[in-house]
Amino acid sequence: MRKLPVLVIFLNVILLAGTACLKQEKRDYPVNPVDFTKVKVADDFWLPRIKTNQKVTIPFAMQQNEETGRVDNFAIAGGLIEGEYKGERYNDTDVYKVMEGAACTLATEPDPKLEKSLDELIKLIAAAQEDDGYLFTPRTATPEKPVVGIGEGRWSNLAVSHELYNAGHMYEAAVAYFLATGKRNFLEIAIKNADLLVRTFGRNKLRATSGHQEVEIGLVKLYRITGNEDYLTLAKYFLDQRGKDLELKIYPEGHRFSIYNEPTQIQAHKPVLEQQEAVGHAVRAMYMYAGMADVAALTGSQEYIQAIDLLWENVINKKMAVTGGLGARHDRERFGENYELPNLTSYNETCAAIGSVMWNHRLFLLHKDAKYIDILERTLYNAVVVGVSLEGDTFFYPNPLASDGKYRFNKGAACRQPWFGTACCPGNIARFIPSMPGYIYAADGDAIYTNLFVTSQTDIQLHDNTVRIEQQTGYPWEGKIQIAVSPYKEAEFGMFIRIPGWAQNRPVPGDLYQYMEEYEDEPIMAVNGESMPLDLVKGYALIHRTWKEGDVIQLDLPMPVRRVQSHPNVAENTGKVALERGPLVYCVEGIDHEGEALDLILPEDPEIYMEFDPNLLKGLVVIKGNVLQKGNLRELTAIPYYAWSHRGVGEMTVWLQSGR
Ligand SMILES: [Zn+2]
Repeated sequence: MRKLPVLVIFLNVILLAGTACLKQEKRDYPVNPVDFTKVKVADDFWLPRIKTNQKVTIPFAMQQNEETGRVDNFAIAGGLIEGEYKGERYNDTDVYKVMEGAACTLATEPDPKLEKSLDELIKLIAAAQEDDGYLFTPRTATPEKPVVGIGEGRWSNLAVSHELYNAGHMYEAAVAYFLATGKRNFLEIAIKNADLLVRTFGRNKLRATSGHQEVEIGLVKLYRITGNEDYLTLAKYFLDQRGKDLELKIYPEGHRFSIYNEPTQIQAHKPVLEQQEAVGHAVRAMYMYAGMADVAALTGSQEYIQAIDLLWENVINKKMAVTGGLGARHDRERFGENYELPNLTSYNETCAAIGSVMWNHRLFLLHKDAKYIDILERTLYNAVVVGVSLEGDTFFYPNPLASDGKYRFNKGAACRQPWFGTACCPGNIARFIPSMPGYIYAADGDAIYTNLFVTSQTDIQLHDNTVRIEQQTGYPWEGKIQIAVSPYKEAEFGMFIRIPGWAQNRPVPGDLYQYMEEYEDEPIMAVNGESMPLDLVKGYALIHRTWKEGDVIQLDLPMPVRRVQSHPNVAENTGKVALERGPLVYCVEGIDHEGEALDLILPEDPEIYMEFDPNLLKGLVVIKGNVLQKGNLRELTAIPYYAWSHRGVGEMTVWLQSGR
């Protein structure tokens, strides 16, 4: 026995020497996004939203978390106050998500008062954590009275309990807080919990996975911060368990499927590598696909890449609303069949749109292809921002493409609501909006990608140079863009400027939506006033040259009003058109048309023009023209879809009858 330690040391030396020889550069996405903390947005569209999120949405959601007992649940679990757990089993995540949003704002704008309030919350979370790292207040707060759905013991009902889902959001929040402040107080809680998961789950341990994906994304973020490969391995393990071993632990013994946790609903009907159609709960699907992209990038798994590429083809060709919204059915918040894309009853959960942005961004980072950013941009400007009011304190959970003013599609209301019993969407908005500047630029060491058009400034690190980028534009209202490229030292490198699909007569990468007419004016690009041919590489104009301080790229994307039609298989949209301009999908509201929107008919050859109205809904471009109402020609007013439902409850539609 005495000899064993010597032997262990000896073996370790050999193993360490081996890993040193074999040491490879870590795999990751071939492109790095320029982090949101490094991009200064200074425009009239996003900056007000970021400010409103900071000043209104985050404090408002924090207050809701307090008033609804979500914060107290941690204090009760920690034995700091008496009481009973309140609410749904996933309510911890509403606190985590708002904390993540708050941490993101701290990263760009220090605020000692906000930081202190987060530290106080972190103390409550630490108190709620059990000695071995377990952290799930619905069980710890009232062990004698388990909350509905969580099962009788730890991990006993993972298809339903959200134990791992809650953990994933906690990791994301903890990482955001660590990155913003450098403090480890929240991170240590996350690590302690993740270490428990590593000890608990895996081969020869508990073989199971989560009914609601999210832990995979969180584990990958923890892996990136800590370098602990166990977290990455576990993220992949949770994905690989889907569609396997269902009889083991994901469902408790003697369990019977309910419609809410049957395998298709939770994407556990097949192994992830064999799933080719997006089915089930749309938010879970998006988090799973985003997690798969992370694992693909970090492990180099071609199988994973092929699987998510196939799923993407299915989603964008057969299951996406024109706004980018995902999840056709209110029933279980799920995808419909191929081409099942209703309007009045479409679900299009705000969280699914945010998940789609996360997924498409990861696919861009993997493939360097602008088609993913085309979907990201469409989703961002339409399906995401519609989820929160311009004032920042009311929210849509579902986002239908039409409303009759009566059907209470939004959890009991036909308009935005301040909060919900299941409040996933407001928290998701709160954490997403501050991260938005992180989607504008990316770089791969030799080249810079400009993906979104937003007046902004950033310094981007290349292999041996720093490049200042200053972008000026009136986007999304105008298509003129100016990008000043100022390298620290004169050097040759590539600038990839995305030429949106919509500017190339292609609203989406596939054939789900098409413009009714070809528009002949093409995008025009120049460098220092000298016109450049558009040399497109995967949707990007590539300008490779020696750049020096003061060089300027000018891009002019013509922004006419376009009529869009759906693939003929979308039965609901037969004979209908939608109006778009640039990245924005438009809608018509009853308030502009004597209470009616659903029965308006757009003439086959409509007169259409646009005008900027600085006073309407914080300023926007209105599409004007003529429309038939009860056989009479009258004035049409269409506004961007994101801006609907700010002027009372009433009719709205994105898709208009086309005819005479
Ligand atoms: Zn949601």
